[in-house]
Amino acid sequence: MAETLTPDICVIGAGSAGLSVAAAAAAFGVPTVLIEKHKMGGDCLNTGCVPSKALLAAAKRAASMRNSDAFGVTAQLASVDFAKVHEHVQRVIAAIAPNDSAERFTGLGVRVIKGNATFKDRRTVAVGDIEIRARRFVIATGSAPAAPRISGLDQGPYFTNETIFSLTELPKHLIVIGAGPIGLELAQAFRRFGSDVTVLEAAWPLAKDDPECAAIVVTALEREGVVIRSGVNVAEVACAVGNVKVTLEGGEAIDGTHLLVAAGRKATTDGLGLEAAGIRHDRAGIVVNNKLKTSNRRVYAIGDAAAGQLQFTHAANYHAGLVIRNALFRLPVRVNNDVIPWVTYTDPELAQTGLSEAEARKRGYKVRLLRWPYHDNDRAQAERETHGHIKAVTTANGKILGATIVGAQAGELITTWSLAIAQRLNIRALTSVVVPYPTLSELGKRAAIDYFTPSLTSPWVRRIIAWLRLFG
Ligand SMILES: Cc1cc2nc3c(=O)[nH]c(=O)nc-3n(C[C@H](O)[C@H](O)[C@H](O)COP(=O)(O)OP(=O)(O)OC[C@H]3O[C@@H](n4cnc5c(N)ncnc54)[C@H](O)[C@@H]3O)c2cc1C
Repeated sequence: MAETLTPDICVIGAGSAGLSVAAAAAAFGVPTVLIEKHKMGGDCLNTGCVPSKALLAAAKRAASMRNSDAFGVTAQLASVDFAKVHEHVQRVIAAIAPNDSAERFTGLGVRVIKGNATFKDRRTVAVGDIEIRARRFVIATGSAPAAPRISGLDQGPYFTNETIFSLTELPKHLIVIGAGPIGLELAQAFRRFGSDVTVLEAAWPLAKDDPECAAIVVTALEREGVVIRSGVNVAEVACAVGNVKVTLEGGEAIDGTHLLVAAGRKATTDGLGLEAAGIRHDRAGIVVNNKLKTSNRRVYAIGDAAAGQLQFTHAANYHAGLVIRNALFRLPVRVNNDVIPWVTYTDPELAQTGLSEAEARKRGYKVRLLRWPYHDNDRAQAERETHGHIKAVTTANGKILGATIVGAQAGELITTWSLAIAQRLNIRALTSVVVPYPTLSELGKRAAIDYFTPSLTSPWVRRIIAWLRLFG
């Protein structure tokens, strides 16, 4: 071995999770090694959140041109130059990339190593001819698109999130397997650029979300022309460049030009040498306890690589914070998935925080549902964004358990509810906030006030008012 390093912390993977740990450790002056085998920034920057949101932003421009007549503004969508859309997406990635770069992290004091990390034993990782014997290791190797077992799929070519953002020509007919957030976001984007889009889903769309609110998203996409087929199983695919045939169980065939597979994720564990380090893993990923520690007490696993965790960039950042507190300060920590929100960035957006109605009932809560529709919000009327509603879940005495918002800017509006849940606020706290008029934020306050609606008609309240009247 040419070199042996003995840092306090060795992080494997420079995606959202690994970068957050490395940046925080370096900020505290802790000797840190960060190993990345591919692109700094991982999935989120290069093939996930950033390109998908940049693509959706371009698609939204196209949609708003088509829909501007209602505002009295006549605009014509002359054409979509998809090569330029591709350039826009790449420019957005390039603008953010310096934050995640090896240069920046080296400047922060992190030793960044390019290469494939493999455990040699319980406390040694090797990258090429460098050996790292760290006090603690953090596995943050992320996930990759899972390939469902479908006859002919392995013959390719098909697209996944790892390749779709390199397309420079608009597909004529995109077939998407999987109606989760990734599949539906991309389906809507391509439809808005002008592709025919067919989405095939074995179960039902957005299966992890509140069904009532997910249905509003599905209807909106269908209204735009996305064909969504639920409860269908793909039996076989035959893909050639520009020519795709998907055969469903039962024999129906669907012809398209491009195939996108967005049917789940698989934790990246291959080649890590987990057995040599005594780290248990299964199909869901690296097995962790509620402190995100693996079966090897020196090693944490966080982000998409950790089994049973929510797979989002902000979840990865949250994990990183817990690891820093536990590894550097020996503070007790415990993952709490109930405080992690998630958003599907379709139009309308779908945002969830805390417990959904179904989850709250499953846990035995006697729930109160509080609602407010977008069409009763003045700003939503002005913007012509009247589809959707907010649905908050509380206990009978007003403890906030969760909220689902479907509609414009749902991803922005959900944060108030996340804060309320994290701070264990009662719904009364949200009724006392003064919210600027006219904003979509009023939706949250109106839903909170809905908690008191039954008391407005309560005979007791009326009797008290009548009694107080006696005093002049
Ligand atoms: C299309 C798409 C859209 C998404 N949109 C959103 C969104 O809007 N909001 C959101 O919160 N989340 C979104 N996500 C999810 C988000 O991208 C992931 O949850 C997040 O990137 C996970 O971060 P991570 O650090 O765990 O893994 P990754 O970002 O995958 O990083 C892991 C890194 O480890 C490296 N690595 C793996 N093995 C080794 C090894 N042996 N040695 C060295 N390096 C290794 C990999 O090369 C990679 O760079 C989206 C995902 C996709 C696919």
